[in-house]
Amino acid sequence: MNLQSLGAAGTVTGSCHLLTLGGQLVMVDYGLFQGDEALEGRNREAFPFGPGDLSAVLLTHAHLDHVGRLPLLVRRGFSGPIYCTPPTLKLAETILLDSARLQVEAYKQDVRKARRMNREGEVPQPLYDEDDVHRTLALMRPALEFGQTLTVGRIKVRAERAGHILGSAYLILDSPEGRLICSGDLGNRESGLQRDFTLPPEADAVIVETTYANRTHRPLEQTLAEFKTVLNSSVRLGGKILIPSFAIERAQAMLFYLKTLMDAGEVPRVPIFLDSPMAARATHEYFEFGNELIGPVREALSSGGDPFKPSGLHVVTSSSESQRLNRYDGAAIIIAGNGMLSGGRIQHHLKHQLWKPSTSLVIVSYQSPSSLGGQIVAGAGQVQVLGEDVAVRAQVHTIGGFSAHADQDDLLSWLDSTGRAHIWLTHGEVSVMDEFLPVLEGRGRTADRVPSRGSVDLTQTHFPGGRPPGERGGARAVVGQAE
Ligand SMILES: [Zn+2]
Repeated sequence: MNLQSLGAAGTVTGSCHLLTLGGQLVMVDYGLFQGDEALEGRNREAFPFGPGDLSAVLLTHAHLDHVGRLPLLVRRGFSGPIYCTPPTLKLAETILLDSARLQVEAYKQDVRKARRMNREGEVPQPLYDEDDVHRTLALMRPALEFGQTLTVGRIKVRAERAGHILGSAYLILDSPEGRLICSGDLGNRESGLQRDFTLPPEADAVIVETTYANRTHRPLEQTLAEFKTVLNSSVRLGGKILIPSFAIERAQAMLFYLKTLMDAGEVPRVPIFLDSPMAARATHEYFEFGNELIGPVREALSSGGDPFKPSGLHVVTSSSESQRLNRYDGAAIIIAGNGMLSGGRIQHHLKHQLWKPSTSLVIVSYQSPSSLGGQIVAGAGQVQVLGEDVAVRAQVHTIGGFSAHADQDDLLSWLDSTGRAHIWLTHGEVSVMDEFLPVLEGRGRTADRVPSRGSVDLTQTHFPGGRPPGERGGARAVVGQAE
């Protein structure tokens, strides 16, 4: 039972576990590295295997940092099955096509710039294009259903509810060497839309995410009370209320909360513009798989209601319509991507609104310190948006409680259920994992950090104190999107 990590060891993006189980090579997730140039450079790393050596790919969920390199795998010759849950297939289609389009657009723009210096030959090709995505989608099999077992050669695979985003699963892999559980990303017990994760069975080894393994989330009730206060004071200012959001899960949660608060009369009704075609597309999948969601959402859907449609909602599709919002007068909520303000339509709204004292910027997602969102949250008085200097005079509110990830209590309750399984920590900052290791040891568990290089036998304790040699803790890892 061997693991070679090809991403997310000591960081939160690029998730990929290459496993040797029952003499077969299988891959769990193949996500994109995101966050900065050094990390993104790793997306082009060569494979340590031939594409024909791989029996299958298994997916935990559709976030880009878990599926975003799949079309590259197919472009390089992989033609085997990619197994996932049915919602993951639908969301992955939206995510991967968007990723391909963005890469091709960025490539064309870079070529135009390079041409002026006669250096167009130096611009790296996009990782993949839409044709690669379509060939990838053709290999995807939505054969993982919660609680059911799928046979992949000598491995039995069972998917269970992870409660992180629509269709998210953790995977129980039984092979002749024993049982391994891969957590994928685990949900916050109060994620808003998703039902809680189920508890796993006992195992021999477990690979677990640690995004927020050193903190306890504030109760959802308190977060919603804070959201309500912020919205009320923002509406009183009479300007735009900008809510940057990622297209999957956070956007749908925002629509659901806005509808709930407005229907209860706790927040005044103002026009809401969902300025993200991708979020609008993803919301369709929340309808199709509505039985996966929490009780109030399921009930609203089964009685013919639309829990994601607050009154006054306008879905903005074309970019010209999006631009016209700059001239819209009066209070209005604009939900636009991306969540870290590093691209997407939110940028032109920031350029036109951030300098106005009547504007409110409501941050509801994690902001990497180096991102535009991170600079604004840190109190920058002026920022660069779309190549222009813009003064920050808007009211900036950060609401930290809307997390889609498990906190330390969630992780401990999930891990307690795995019995004596040896624990491998991944998908988190090194400093966070180093805080979590003694907590686990205090509960009588053995644990190691997944090393970023080389392969390990998962059933053995390798590193005294859990730290791989040459990877001492303390340094703050660069983090990307941790949705
Ligand atoms: Zn995720």
